[in-house]
Amino acid sequence: MPACPIPELTPMATVEAKSVLPKDWKADLGAPLALDLTLPVTELLRRSTSRMPQDIIEALVASRNLEAEGSRAANTLDTMLENIKLADDHVAPLCQDTGTVIFWVRHPFGVSQRQIKAQIRAAVREATSRSWLRPNCVASLSGKNPGNNMDPFGEGHPVVHFEEWDQPEIEVAVMLKGGGCENVGAQYRLPDVAIGAGRDLAGVRKCVIDAVTKAQGQGCAPGILSVAIGGDRITGYEKSKELILRKLGTPNADPKLDAFERQLVADLNTLGIGPMGYGGKTTVLGVLVEEMFRHPASFFVSISYMCWSSRRNVLRLDAAGRPSFI
Ligand code: SF4
Repeated sequence: MPACPIPELTPMATVEAKSVLPKDWKADLGAPLALDLTLPVTELLRRSTSRMPQDIIEALVASRNLEAEGSRAANTLDTMLENIKLADDHVAPLCQDTGTVIFWVRHPFGVSQRQIKAQIRAAVREATSRSWLRPNCVASLSGKNPGNNMDPFGEGHPVVHFEEWDQPEIEVAVMLKGGGCENVGAQYRLPDVAIGAGRDLAGVRKCVIDAVTKAQGQGCAPGILSVAIGGDRITGYEKSKELILRKLGTPNADPKLDAFERQLVADLNTLGIGPMGYGGKTTVLGVLVEEMFRHPASFFVSISYMCWSSRRNVLRLDAAGRPSFI
């Protein structure tokens, strides 16, 4: 079977030329209360919605090359790769569902989180008005859509997590988390008699296999499974989401969990669910695991499922205030 090449995205010079950030824009990090991240976060969203991270593209290509020529799995992966190229060429959303917009901001002492959150909300509003984001935020009971991705209470959407750190730089990571894949996330409380899972890694493995089996093609396989072991019901899910920011192919810092992740990818890819549930060898692209501390009485396994359209990006302002996107 001829190997499928890695699609070439538009050169970075072209991406830069379309940036909403003025050339040579930089922030003055010496005046943190005057900081305005609205424009760089708008640019972050523009890139996130249309340009797939390189590690995801490479994982899709590697999977495509394992599937039989002419199979539904190979054809589906080909379509995904073509979609990636078209979205990048046209600066158009990679998927019609641009997801729940989730941010993680890491900043030095002195920055106003209230100001940064308002700027992030302004950037999301702007990206929505430019159709880079679909208006995905609706009132739960009425379904009413304000049309601008703004939760009027400033709590539910966009989601913004903050962390103060000792470094002078600022980092803003973003993830667009699709609704379909969010629906097939799962949380288990061990021991779980129904699936025969005890409070150990073998039990965690059973949880992940159960979640993927129940999801079948829903959630838009091939997925990335991120698994937080421990924590409580909230922190476990929060951690599992954050884990999706880790690039595929980056080894887990814990050798035991690294081996566990690799084995689990191999095992899940024998389930035969395949891309979009059409069968094949590619049910998942990766598994990401982290262990947390927990209450002695509780043992939660929180699993987030990220679809193949795994959109994420990071804006970094270096100590001199210069932006880069990684
Ligand atoms: S789960 Fe992902 S790929 Fe599927 S529709 Fe939602 S955002 Fe798109």
